[in-house]
Amino acid sequence: MTEVKDFDVIIIGGSYAGLSSAMALGRALRNVLIIDSGLPCNRQTPHSHNFLTQDGKTPKEISILAKQQVQKYETVKFHKGLATLGTKTTNGFEITTDTKDKFTAKKLIFATGIKDTMPAIKGFAECWGISLIHCPYCHGYEYRKQNTGIIANGAKAFHLASLVNNLTDNITIMTTGKADFNSEQLDKLNVHNIKIIETKISEFENKNGHLQNIVFDDSTKISFDAAYAAIPFVQHSDIPISLGCELTEHGYIKVDDFQKTTIEGIYACGDNSNMMRSIANAVHSGNLTGAVANGELTNEKF
Ligand SMILES: Cc1cc2nc3c(=O)[nH]c(=O)nc-3n(C[C@H](O)[C@H](O)[C@H](O)COP(=O)(O)OP(=O)(O)OC[C@H]3O[C@@H](n4cnc5c(N)ncnc54)[C@H](O)[C@@H]3O)c2cc1C
Repeated sequence: MTEVKDFDVIIIGGSYAGLSSAMALGRALRNVLIIDSGLPCNRQTPHSHNFLTQDGKTPKEISILAKQQVQKYETVKFHKGLATLGTKTTNGFEITTDTKDKFTAKKLIFATGIKDTMPAIKGFAECWGISLIHCPYCHGYEYRKQNTGIIANGAKAFHLASLVNNLTDNITIMTTGKADFNSEQLDKLNVHNIKIIETKISEFENKNGHLQNIVFDDSTKISFDAAYAAIPFVQHSDIPISLGCELTEHGYIKVDDFQKTTIEGIYACGDNSNMMRSIANAVHSGNLTGAVANGELTNEKF
């Protein structure tokens, strides 16, 4: 248990965005507590890509190194656990954890990420982050020139197909229901030989998460090396909402250009508030958030 209970800033979420905020705040000698439950969204992916200097490392290698670097700053403390409740106090906020510890701070940073809602289809969860992937920039290069699926419909599927088309010319869109493309989109998909299957999927046959076949409701099966899947998500923590932070129409925490939420003294960074889902972006927005929170603490005192 952490002894000091009152901090300048509490950061909830100690993955890439949270650690990046903590580094900026630690270097400004702010007393910071990071509360982290240790469940980053990319934990199942074998190799992380497209983050300069760390390309190809495991997610864990990157976060271990990040944590080691942040731990050098003695004003930054860590608490392993889940933040379960947030309340407003006269001077700031109080956070309660699953172990009933209570911590207070003038400012709160949510770096809590998002939780993917996986479809209840056999094999999906095993393949997620390995051969069922979310982003061409993160994993597309590794599956270049291979037999690739896109499990999505409408504008999302069309956008993904246009990006993936530069990586492979063997693409099948699986809409799992009636395809929703206008005639102009259909013409373009046709020109690029992109196939469309509307039948629902019943199983992702795989070996240790490596996709082998996609099996359809009509019992047909097609072999694939990888498939992009656009799946829904929920906020990993509901504390920002309980404190009154507004969400965008897409379900992200609403922030301004300085990562400030709609509630004074509360900031959000990383995946929870941005649809550009990448470690580079999480680190960037976390760094900005740390500087903005420090700037506000400075203005209140100086
Ligand atoms: C399968 C997959 C593969 C990916 N591959 C890549 C890749 O190759 N390259 C790339 O750049 N990006 C990749 N990404 C995206 C990247 O992982 C995310 O953009 C990044 O992890 C976001 O960082 P974050 O700190 O915002 O959130 P996360 O890394 O998800 O971390 C959120 C942290 O907050 C903690 N937390 C949440 N709620 C609470 C609470 N109430 N109390 C305490 N702690 C809490 C969680 O336990 C977690 O540790 C991938 C994503 C997925 C899903």
